[in-house]
Amino acid sequence: MPAAMQALYWNGRDLEFKSAYRRPIGGGQTALVKVHLAGICATDLQIFKGYMGFTGVPGHEFVGSVVEGPQALIAKRVVGEINFACGNCDYCRRGLSRHCPARSVMGILNADGAFAEYVSIPPTNLHVVPDGVADEEAVFTEPLAAAFEILEQIQINPGDEILVLGDGKLGNLCAQVLRQASARVTVLGKHEEKLKLLKRAGLRTIQIQNWQPKRFDIVIEATGSAAGLELALSAVRPRGTLVLKSTIAGNHQLSLAPLVIDEINVIGSRCGPFAPALEALKEKRVAVTPLIEKIYPLADGVDAVAHAAESGTRKILLKPS
Ligand SMILES: [Zn+2]
Ligand SMILES: [Zn+2]
Repeated sequence: MPAAMQALYWNGRDLEFKSAYRRPIGGGQTALVKVHLAGICATDLQIFKGYMGFTGVPGHEFVGSVVEGPQALIAKRVVGEINFACGNCDYCRRGLSRHCPARSVMGILNADGAFAEYVSIPPTNLHVVPDGVADEEAVFTEPLAAAFEILEQIQINPGDEILVLGDGKLGNLCAQVLRQASARVTVLGKHEEKLKLLKRAGLRTIQIQNWQPKRFDIVIEATGSAAGLELALSAVRPRGTLVLKSTIAGNHQLSLAPLVIDEINVIGSRCGPFAPALEALKEKRVAVTPLIEKIYPLADGVDAVAHAAESGTRKILLKPS
């Protein structure tokens, strides 16, 4: 195999396409994965604004096939969990490896990511993609897993009224997942086209200009904007639950008094379990391909990122040649 590969590289100031970046190597402790498709997500766009102070190859949403590593995984189509944990600290031993303080995070913290021809990853992070799940679906496993995390964290009772704030990719996936636990999911969003997409998937939708203040049992904040937070807080009923899904770089000013007065549970929610996400894709319980806007060759990655940053854009994917 050649020692160099194509990759996008973030140097802390600019994103560059490199035609001959040092290719990572696989071995007993790492698997080398040939990337089939990678997704650009809001977190990547935050990184290009300085979030995490990351430099290196970005990208943490991918599907690929194993070319080096443990024999049992060779040639298998895989997706990968993005937190590379130490495996022996207190958190890791308690099964909280996604919170390992010594972890590196693919394309986000001290580890090169998937906007490249190849990515290296610990084999224990890999999940084999079931037959019948296309690459264009499997590349959504990581954000879909983040939506499934909500079900791990909160108890949803049948008949609970849930409001998902945000009609973007994350809001869409959260709404589709939550509907499986409760039929009464409403999505509040800005974009007519995106709300239509959700309506077609059978969800109730409200466009922001038609919003009448109302209180819900559970509110999921998935707007990716600071303004969403205030609206989210105002829409939770007393003793209700507010789940925060967006990571927004920067500081927000917000009065916390309503949380106390209304005794609201606030849950921060990030990465989630891959197994139920793959299962849902396999059983076609979640529709992800309508979320794809465009697939760019990796060599056009800089343009692809600019496109992804335009407001209202659905998922942009990168395809190495
Ligand atoms: Zn992401
Ligand atoms: Zn650890």
